[in-house]
Amino acid sequence: MPERAEILHLLCDEPAGSLRQEAEKITLAQKGSHVFVRGLLEFSNRCKRNCLYCGLRAQNSTIRRYLLPQEAIIASSEMAVAAGADTVVLQAGEGCFDAGWLADIVREITSRLGVPVTLSVGECARGDYELWRKAGANRYLLRHETSDAALYAKLHPGYSLENRLKCLRVLSSLGYEVGSGFMVGLPGQSLESIADDILLCRKLNVDMAGIGPFIPQGGTPLAAGQGGSADLALRAVAALRIAHPRVNQPATTALASLDPARGQAEGLRWGANVLMASFTPPDAAKDYRIYDNKCRVNMQDAARAIEEAGRTHILKNI
Ligand code: SAH
Ligand code: SF4
Repeated sequence: MPERAEILHLLCDEPAGSLRQEAEKITLAQKGSHVFVRGLLEFSNRCKRNCLYCGLRAQNSTIRRYLLPQEAIIASSEMAVAAGADTVVLQAGEGCFDAGWLADIVREITSRLGVPVTLSVGECARGDYELWRKAGANRYLLRHETSDAALYAKLHPGYSLENRLKCLRVLSSLGYEVGSGFMVGLPGQSLESIADDILLCRKLNVDMAGIGPFIPQGGTPLAAGQGGSADLALRAVAALRIAHPRVNQPATTALASLDPARGQAEGLRWGANVLMASFTPPDAAKDYRIYDNKCRVNMQDAARAIEEAGRTHILKNI
């Protein structure tokens, strides 16, 4: 398994062609040609945190806040499953809804629609994670964002990398399949720390990992900064595939947002085996402004990307 120096070499020096081919070869050997398509439901853009990079941060008063009602979340989940999504991913900002309310939704989706539910609602109390697990949720996405503890503290006022990692351990111990991941191109992030991000995903033995370029967003303290490059994000996707072959990796929406025509197909060609298609009602989706020009990937886009990358899917009614 590659160590830090080799991962740095993959990120910086390995010729693009051979890196991509190696990652694609391992993806096909480990995961086959099939691409999993998840149905993403961004059910609330309310958030109590102030992550410096994110448009949903509490102090951003320029966006209209929403919390979808239970019936709307369940109706959108039904649509996602009917279209061939193999899991429903319920994502939101942190700490602005009732845990029991979400547990009821999880119960309804798992019992009635028969698909796994994935949650992505941030750092929560152990009791809440437990409640949702008992309600039937069995996957959880919580990116570690950056493995550089000092940078983590700067970007997340009042929070620590240590607590983030503690949450990931708690989730694992409760029997969730756990997803982490990180951004590439954060201000102050070194290439060495990106290599450490990859090593951390392997050390945590994560089941899933999302890697996306940082995209500056208006209304945040990092609005004027430079974003991450798609090239480096793709190199990181490939390096993670080589370092931790069994991981499920999405071609992220952030990649699609940098290059709407080809971003996701490229992600699949560089080591990803998962896509997320949004089933958030369009009215709400336009307010889920994590970063500028966030793409809304639908099932047609997902099918096109998969076909373009020469892979297979089981999507219906598209
Ligand atoms: N509140 C939850 C889930 C929603 S945010 C959480 O924070 O875990 C989902 C992901 O969006 C975050 O993990 C982060 O990596 C990504 N994100 C936020 N702002 C971003 C930006 N400006 N550019 C790229 N990705 C961003
Ligand atoms: Fe809230 Fe997540 Fe955005 Fe941070 S990244 S401000 S926790 S939505």
